[in-house]
Amino acid sequence: MRKNIVAGNWKMNTTLQDAQALVSEIVNMVQDEATGSAVEVVICPPFPLLPVVGRLLPEGGQLHLGAQNCHQKESGAFTGEVSARLLASIGTEYVILGHSERRQYFREDDELLSQKLKAALAAGLKPIFCVGESLETREADDTFAYIGKQLKEGLFHLSNEEFAQVVVAYEPIWAIGTGKTATSQQAQEVHAFIREQIARAYDAKQALNTTILYGGSANAQNARELFSQPDVDGGLIGGASLKSRDFVEIIKSF
Ligand code: PEP
Repeated sequence: MRKNIVAGNWKMNTTLQDAQALVSEIVNMVQDEATGSAVEVVICPPFPLLPVVGRLLPEGGQLHLGAQNCHQKESGAFTGEVSARLLASIGTEYVILGHSERRQYFREDDELLSQKLKAALAAGLKPIFCVGESLETREADDTFAYIGKQLKEGLFHLSNEEFAQVVVAYEPIWAIGTGKTATSQQAQEVHAFIREQIARAYDAKQALNTTILYGGSANAQNARELFSQPDVDGGLIGGASLKSRDFVEIIKSF
């Protein structure tokens, strides 16, 4: 059966000191408040902080380490880039791919993302693959067609075994960092659609077993309502993952 996951995307925030303080607070609260094993928590700090944050996460526990990106090649002359193999070698388990900020600011398209997915999977990382429509697309009533295309071109080239390692995140672009959350009904509709597309591309079992996260201004106040939807299996959290109390309340929202 699929897992519930809450992943915190710290983006390009925190210094070494901020990161140490933030992750220590999260670890202590999670332990003290017995948030339980019902939800897996993934912390995705900036690259240089991965080893430091990783060392602060209790081994074999509820908290796991994730990266925000990786390069598509295994190694080589790609100045400034980070390989999936390196990430795996320092204890990273997950990697976010296809975040709308990477698609928008770094021109990452489905072709490139397909290569990144393959590289991540070959290194043993579990991709958190983001899809989501712009406000313009939603207003033009094209949401389902747009997301269907992102899934088909970005993800559905994977084999059954590869796809079984993937977490999908539905992140409407108009909700990311804007304070405008999708209603639980809007989220549920798209999540159900994504699950249906997975069933068509693979099979019903694969669809039932895939974790689908919601991301876009999720916070301690709206998480419970969002997570109560049958096809919403957790959240990819940006802003609220930088505040330990808010993040832990989200973890406790199942
Ligand atoms: C994100 O960046 O993945 C995200 C969901 O951000 P926020 O929660 O701040 O909207």
